[in-house]
Amino acid sequence: MITLALSKGRIFEETVPLLAAAGIVPLEAPEQSRKLIIGTNREDVRLIIVRASDVPTYVEYGAADIGIAGKDVLHEHGGNGLYMPLDLNIAKCKLMVAVRKGFDYEAATKRGSRLRVATKYTDSAREHFANKGVHVDLIKLYGSMELAPLVGLADAIVDLVSTGGTLKANNLEAVEHIYDVSSRLIANQASLKLKRDRLQPILDAFAGAVSKD
Ligand code: ATP
Ligand code: MG
Repeated sequence: MITLALSKGRIFEETVPLLAAAGIVPLEAPEQSRKLIIGTNREDVRLIIVRASDVPTYVEYGAADIGIAGKDVLHEHGGNGLYMPLDLNIAKCKLMVAVRKGFDYEAATKRGSRLRVATKYTDSAREHFANKGVHVDLIKLYGSMELAPLVGLADAIVDLVSTGGTLKANNLEAVEHIYDVSSRLIANQASLKLKRDRLQPILDAFAGAVSKD
């Protein structure tokens, strides 16, 4: 059995065409089903639906042979026991610093005082501000980061931005780009060795179906 871990929502939807290129068709859509294990047209391939940030953990421990996760998630996870990230060029967005409109970010990062930053992406944020030489107090949040600057929890947030619509709706603006995000295919190292004959054709089909833009 080959097990692929992925999250529902945009990653699942954008993975369906890549699976099709490998001749794999899910038997159910996770949004319509409450099942966490979804069969496919191939008896030896199944999908497991997990939280986006849990995908690397399932693959690391070999509970899934391969998985699909955003660069943001992989960066925060580290990368123990994971092999060969293949950029699938899907679920594209940017990790950015954002502040309340009118907040003087330039001045706040220059005057040597500490900046309060709320984020789910504490490792990426710590690294970014260390490289800039800006002292920060990081406040860990698990969602709705946009709220933090509006109610005085933080001066800035580090969050994923695609269209900027959520920032705009909350009177925030992006002030700094940290890195571009897309989703990558990861594989368990032992699985790659033990199941190479069945995994390689799937990996090759994915690589061949990746859009280049
Ligand atoms: P959960 O919703 O379970 O708390 P999550 O918010 O991290 O977790 P998703 O919103 O499904 O999960 O995002 C999954 C992945 O999709 C993210 O890790 C990121 O790589 C990518 N992503 C997130 N937001 C966007 C976006 N607006 N546009 C494109 N890709 C995105
Ligand atoms: Mg979400």
